[in-house]
Amino acid sequence: VATAARTQVAIIGGGPAGLLLSHILHRNGVDSIVLERQSRAHVLGRIRAGVLEAGTVALLREVGLGARMDREGHPHDGSAIAWEGRPRFFIDTQKFTGKRMMAYGQTAITEDLYAARDTAGGEVIDEADKVQLHALTARRPHVTYTKQGASRRIDCDYVAGCDGFHGVSRASIPASVLKTYEKSYPFGWLGVLSETPPYPDLCYCYHSRGFALASMRTPLLSRYYIQCELDARLEDWPDERFWQEFKARCPPEMAERIVTGPSIEKSIAPLRSFVAEPMQYGTLFLAGDAAHIVPPTGAKGLNLAVSDVFYLSRALIESCRSGKTHYLERYSDMALRRVWASARISWWLTMLLHRFPDETPFEERMRFDQFDYLRASEHAQASLAEQYVGLPFEA
Ligand SMILES: Cc1cc2nc3c(=O)[nH]c(=O)nc-3n(C[C@H](O)[C@H](O)[C@H](O)COP(=O)(O)OP(=O)(O)OC[C@H]3O[C@@H](n4cnc5c(N)ncnc54)[C@H](O)[C@@H]3O)c2cc1C
Repeated sequence: VATAARTQVAIIGGGPAGLLLSHILHRNGVDSIVLERQSRAHVLGRIRAGVLEAGTVALLREVGLGARMDREGHPHDGSAIAWEGRPRFFIDTQKFTGKRMMAYGQTAITEDLYAARDTAGGEVIDEADKVQLHALTARRPHVTYTKQGASRRIDCDYVAGCDGFHGVSRASIPASVLKTYEKSYPFGWLGVLSETPPYPDLCYCYHSRGFALASMRTPLLSRYYIQCELDARLEDWPDERFWQEFKARCPPEMAERIVTGPSIEKSIAPLRSFVAEPMQYGTLFLAGDAAHIVPPTGAKGLNLAVSDVFYLSRALIESCRSGKTHYLERYSDMALRRVWASARISWWLTMLLHRFPDETPFEERMRFDQFDYLRASEHAQASLAEQYVGLPFEA
């Protein structure tokens, strides 16, 4: 190995989970090195999540990352559900929890995180190839990778696996240790980003043609989705067809107010629920999409990455500062309690708001009744609002 380095925490993956962890550790005097497989331009070019729970917003403010979010983000008091043939319904997080949410894009959060790491002189190594984790059950693990063809090594105390669903970290845990739970849904989401003023509310539409969602990133950047077939192809969805289909799934008064424009990004994502347990193996700790995936209904993916990082940073700081491992030993259980709660509400909203290709008339009636019960019951509304705005972090 040509070059060797030493750090307290080697962080695999420079997405939101890895960068936020590195940022919080630095603020608390714990050093880390982030290894990212892609170029920085690639990471910053990804269009993904954009709806932040109240706890995520509070945490970002607390760690000095709130200024641009508060300037450019769009605070909101909940989300609307427009159900074909029924009056409009609002998930009122402000009324039932006193908390607000924020629309602020993952791309902007990632930019803010890179800027903060750069300002602090943090080490984020991009285009790190062939990352491998070693000696994870020994006292001192290490990580190897190649950069521009040269082999390098990092010795560390802990490894944080923040490298997303397809990363190397979860794959480094022996199959005999890991238990995985998975559900695939029989449809995907076709998403369009357009430089147009968003529809004022974040609005989920249930329609006999399928689900649709109007979301926002900034006052001049809108994100729209429609449920699509699993084998849908982007070339079959020119902008004009997308807008036509989107509007057909909204109530007429909403369709009239949608400002359309050319798409600046368009993508198709299949919907999946996935959880891997435990989130620890020896000195390796998983966080974010490396350990779990939720369908985007309910906007929990990025928020879960943030809550994992809250728990993991607290545990690593405690251990690195005082040698105590109280929180490290509980990390997996604590993080997983919140993961399962978010997996359940994402699954429930997905079942409620989509048309399923093979469903029976009975199942369809059950869905209508779920919605009518939600509209009629303040208890049901309070329960949904509490989960939608985000459950509190455990002490
Ligand atoms: C197309 C798409 C759309 C989404 N839309 C939404 C949405 O609307 N709402 C929502 O709430 N959530 C959404 N999500 C989910 C949300 O974006 C994720 O939950 C969030 O990105 C998780 O952050 P993370 O840091 O854990 O993982 P990631 O953002 O995936 O970051 C992992 C990083 O690790 C790097 N990496 C991978 N393998 C390696 C390796 N071997 N070595 C080094 N680095 C590696 C990757 O390049 C990446 O930068 C979406 C996800 C996708 C993929």
